[in-house]
Amino acid sequence: MVNRQPSASSVPRVGFVSLGCPKALVDAERILTQVRAEGYEVVGDYEGADVVVVNTCGFIESAIEESLDAIGEALAENGRVIVTGCLGAQAGKILSTYPQVLAITGPHDQAGVMQALHEHLPQRHDPFTSLVPPQGIKLTPAHYAYLKISEGCNHRCTFCIIPSLRGDLVSRPLGEVLQEAEHLVQAGVRELLVISQDTSAYGVDVRYRTGFWQGRPLRTRMTELARALGQMGVWVRLHYVYPYPHVDELIPLMAEGLVLPYLDVPLQHASPRILRAMKRPGDVERTLERIQSWRRDCPDLTLRSTFIAGFPGETEEDFQQLLDFLEEAQLDRVGCFAYSPVEGATANALPDSVPVVVREERQARFMERQEKISAQRLQRFVGRDCQVLVDELTPEGGAVGRSAADAPEIDGIVAIAPAAGFKVGEFVTVRIEEAMAHDLSGFRVDHVGS
Ligand code: SF4
Repeated sequence: MVNRQPSASSVPRVGFVSLGCPKALVDAERILTQVRAEGYEVVGDYEGADVVVVNTCGFIESAIEESLDAIGEALAENGRVIVTGCLGAQAGKILSTYPQVLAITGPHDQAGVMQALHEHLPQRHDPFTSLVPPQGIKLTPAHYAYLKISEGCNHRCTFCIIPSLRGDLVSRPLGEVLQEAEHLVQAGVRELLVISQDTSAYGVDVRYRTGFWQGRPLRTRMTELARALGQMGVWVRLHYVYPYPHVDELIPLMAEGLVLPYLDVPLQHASPRILRAMKRPGDVERTLERIQSWRRDCPDLTLRSTFIAGFPGETEEDFQQLLDFLEEAQLDRVGCFAYSPVEGATANALPDSVPVVVREERQARFMERQEKISAQRLQRFVGRDCQVLVDELTPEGGAVGRSAADAPEIDGIVAIAPAAGFKVGEFVTVRIEEAMAHDLSGFRVDHVGS
């Protein structure tokens, strides 16, 4: 292990390692923004850093292990480590392996990280000489950005420990969220990805209080927020939309083109018995009716969801109900996890645990079934002209982009060839020639913006 002392350089240097989900990424961006605002330099290697901050994930056992490995690596390579993020809420777990870490703070604790930095790496220069752009420091490519609207969650799904790690729902003030979105758009962001633990609950904790935006009163509520974001002239994509009844209000905004016709609604299961055991909404018939009515009102809607196979007590009959639901719902984008117990989750105490081999076998059957459905759904794009946001140019002279149906990192792509003169972050119109299981390919037919 390296036993490093702070360098004699006039600018103290901070290394940063970030793990976890988009919500953790937004925490990292906030911390880095503050770090730069206070005059620290952010460096990209262990060698050049005076202190390394490790932003951890604690969602499932494999994420905990990955986080502990990252802390171990930072200690071995640098020696001076501050830990933050979800695993920070379980400080004992970190300290039992790495008692030498300098400090530990919990999730979304920017102030705690800064306090630890002030203590272990005091500034040596005037913070007012540091310039940070108004949109803050972004870790995503320049043309898209995650916009976190709240922290925590009021639900108590039995498989999840996020509420115990991040607490109950706390919505960010509406004006603050819209101000951040405006700065991002002014800085060139073309797609805003709205995230939280529970996007449709936005404002519940403040009783949908009235905020202000550009001198106009506006309620702190998902629909009002989505409409205001939709007027900024960029793509707006909504993630983690818990299936409350008022989600129906978003569909007209999608049909109008104000927000992308894309809904990421985690449904988790389709057996009412298992949904009850998960403490999730259990009216599956109603869910199917709503999906049909959403599609009737917005035929271009892309529906994304996630499910868990092999939850404790799941029988073959329950699982069959889930497969039947898939056939009926015809979802576009789906992820399925084999159930994995998370330390501290109440589901661990449920009887009739499903053997690991059965969980994995069901997950594989689920994905096999869904893959056919997803592939069939994508066929509807063949021959159509789609608006595509260019993400990268390939060495072969093509480009990779995404349509409204594709969120970055988790969905498919649109391969475009040739792509001479393309710019990353521009919108192009692409005629789709071919649809694969998850991806599309085609050629450009027109400029629709830049
Ligand atoms: S709604 Fe999501 S974050 Fe909240 S408890 Fe359920 S799974 Fe966890």
